[in-house]
Amino acid sequence: MSVLEKWQNPDVAAITPYEPGRPIEEVARELGIDPASISKLASNENPLGTSPKALDALRKKLPETFRYPDGGAYYLREKLAAHFGVVRQQVVLGAGSNEILEFIGHCFMSSGRSVVVSAHAFVIYKLIARMFDTRVIEVPATAGLGHDLNAMAEAIEDDTCAIFVCNPNNPTGTLVEQDAVDAFLKKVPDDVLVVFDEAYAEIALGSMPDTLSIVKSRGNCLMLRTFSKAYGLAGLRIGFGMGPQPLIETLQKARQPFNVNRLAQEAALAALDDDEFIERSRELFAESKKYLETSCERLGLDYVPTVANFLLIKVGDAPPVTQHLLGKGIIVRPMAGYGLPEYIRVSFGVMEENRRFIGALKEIMAPDEE
Ligand SMILES: *Cc1c(COP(=O)(O)O)cnc(C)c1O
Repeated sequence: MSVLEKWQNPDVAAITPYEPGRPIEEVARELGIDPASISKLASNENPLGTSPKALDALRKKLPETFRYPDGGAYYLREKLAAHFGVVRQQVVLGAGSNEILEFIGHCFMSSGRSVVVSAHAFVIYKLIARMFDTRVIEVPATAGLGHDLNAMAEAIEDDTCAIFVCNPNNPTGTLVEQDAVDAFLKKVPDDVLVVFDEAYAEIALGSMPDTLSIVKSRGNCLMLRTFSKAYGLAGLRIGFGMGPQPLIETLQKARQPFNVNRLAQEAALAALDDDEFIERSRELFAESKKYLETSCERLGLDYVPTVANFLLIKVGDAPPVTQHLLGKGIIVRPMAGYGLPEYIRVSFGVMEENRRFIGALKEIMAPDEE
């Protein structure tokens, strides 16, 4: 018997690994073309690049890389706390907010328990639950593919430890607003952890609920944010969670001492002041939304109106469309893994990339249109 046959944890054996957007380098190698000619519109990154303030800080701090980071991340947690009007003890950092989702697994999930998620929500919640042998209660989405918060609250069972609200939701780009969240929280018992995953909050093109007030006033709510999307720091891996102190202190116990690296901390400190970059990003995303949604209408393609920097488009049979786009050097994400086999998700690029995407999409979806 092999090591794997004899000893691999059944929870691990059952996991299907997460499929990320395909890296530019890999696609360039396969197609034998210049990486610079490829548009990666597959991981909701910021097409304007990295916050210039963060880049400056990185250049200055690069020589200090030989030192371990401040494991407690004093300055960054202080700054985030001041920024949001909480205390440092209410802030936990992760190597991306994905790592904080894993802390939640370590602290709260195990066999005999369940979590509640929405259909077509960010798939990592399910992956983490499986890793901890925790049952997933998946609640059907609304007709518009958004979270049905009412049905989610009603789906909570006695063994439910956590419920995940992805807002805006990736990959559907839908938003739940204040009224719906208030009604939802009235129904959720105090002994269930409520996670508001707000990876796109800074650039959301709609009215975000005030989750900050919620996490300040309730003992069971957690807000997750990331520097990966709006601030353009996806490659450095840094995100944060904010909530009541006892909850945050518990999550801290699941953290490796140096989980967030030195450069990521420095970049995040600087990025947090870069309002100008966020403003420019918001403007580009508003323009991109308008252009891509209007283009879909012109091509007769259904889409889900988005409040984030990506758009879910119904193309019928997604793999050949994805493949056609790939042949044109455009990487998008097929959505079968999200229970949406007829859809692709395209992340917003700069306007030139958006136009290139629509041109290539038109070739395969509506070749007769001029
Ligand atoms: C991108 C994303 C995250 C986290 O990304 P990190 O890079 O790990 O910070 C979390 N939730 C959603 C919904 C996302 O789209």
